[in-house]
Amino acid sequence: MGANSRANDAECQAKIMLSIHSDDHFMGQALLQAELAFEEKEIPIGAVIVCENRIIAKAYNQVEKLQDVTAHAEILAITAAQNYLGSKYLNDCTLFVTLEPCNMCAGALFWSQIGHVVIGARDEKRGFTRVSPPPLHPKTLIAFGVLGNKCEILIKEFFKNMRSQQKDL
Ligand SMILES: [Zn+2]
Repeated sequence: MGANSRANDAECQAKIMLSIHSDDHFMGQALLQAELAFEEKEIPIGAVIVCENRIIAKAYNQVEKLQDVTAHAEILAITAAQNYLGSKYLNDCTLFVTLEPCNMCAGALFWSQIGHVVIGARDEKRGFTRVSPPPLHPKTLIAFGVLGNKCEILIKEFFKNMRSQQKDL
């Protein structure tokens, strides 16, 4: 009975998780993607795209692996979402991304006409908000700071590790 009730607990837990459609929940999923990037020694940035409360695309930064400067998490997620929907427009979708998109990604988001963009940490150096007016589509709604601390800590840890590895060489 013990094992059974544990299995039921796990099932119950899974249902609770699936029923959570909050920004925190989806940013948590984007953070899991960022952690995959971290493990592969990529700058840890992750993204998911949500449509009708379902994740239809997820991706993480793969610039080093693909040796492709355009392989940012957002670009890979946009392409996957467009393939999934069979549409170049993402008006009814929300992008959750752990770091403020750069200008290239903001440009791609502009062309996709994405409905919402939810951002974890700010990027003071390369974020699209340095440009005025911001290059996103005027109809795109933007939110900042969802799990921002966690997103920022992951990136800081990555660069701290890189610096200490360079010292060891
Ligand atoms: Zn980018």
